[in-house]
Amino acid sequence: MQRRPGFPAQWSAKAPAVEPRRSTPAAGGALPAVSSPTGVGLDSAAVRGRMVQRLASAGIASAAVLQAMGTVERHRFVDTALVNQAYEDTSLPIGLGQTISKPSIVARMCELLLQAEGARQGGLGRVLEIGTGCGYQAAVLSQLAREVYTIERLRGLHEKARDNLRPFRLANVHLMLGDGMLGYPRGAPYAGIIAAAGGDALPAAWCDQLAVGGRLVAPLALSGAGQVLLVIDKTPHGLKQSVLEPVHFVPLKSGIA
Ligand code: SAH
Repeated sequence: MQRRPGFPAQWSAKAPAVEPRRSTPAAGGALPAVSSPTGVGLDSAAVRGRMVQRLASAGIASAAVLQAMGTVERHRFVDTALVNQAYEDTSLPIGLGQTISKPSIVARMCELLLQAEGARQGGLGRVLEIGTGCGYQAAVLSQLAREVYTIERLRGLHEKARDNLRPFRLANVHLMLGDGMLGYPRGAPYAGIIAAAGGDALPAAWCDQLAVGGRLVAPLALSGAGQVLLVIDKTPHGLKQSVLEPVHFVPLKSGIA
């Protein structure tokens, strides 16, 4: 672990790459929408609105999740050459063999987190994301949770996420470079843990670092059944596990590279 929890909460120490146009009220940190890049040829608010409609038709019911998906500009997290696909329901390459998850799975996992017992009572508190990637899901989570800790094992992507997120100046997002298989004990206990990479076993640290009333949402490879989405709720009486739909996430790996 190379970064302390506060890092780099103070985005405002640096000038934003693009000027904020307006502020959107948010659950956690306010997310200033930034002006569209020139030459992209994308009316991003309208395209994003259509993406949100498709998410709602596909069963995402949480108004908070739909609002967050409508607020975060996904096209800012992908390479220029892929901008026109940014609002399609597809995963896209982000470098180093990794992918940004498709919008429907990001929305689905966020909705599952908000349904945790603790979140239903008092809102979603501190969340840990394993696999920052390009930082998109962390930005969505920043609109739904009070604090977001996100950890990435690949230095190149950790830095890319930092660059991508800087213009949004999200004071409640904390990026760490490290091995997320160990969780991030300094931020524990978490109201929610979300993994964007899947292995064939759940690291024990994740359940250990979950608060009572908290929920873990993670892909897991089941022998013979492929990868599925797993939900684990920590109740006062122990862990309760639910196996949901099949999913396709990049592999969870150990160590920093
Ligand atoms: N949420 C990301 C998805 C990135 S893909 C986004 O919105 O873009 C999953 C990421 O998990 C990859 O970047 C991969 O490097 C990372 N990863 C895999 N194993 C990891 C581990 N043990 N600790 C931290 N990150 C890990």
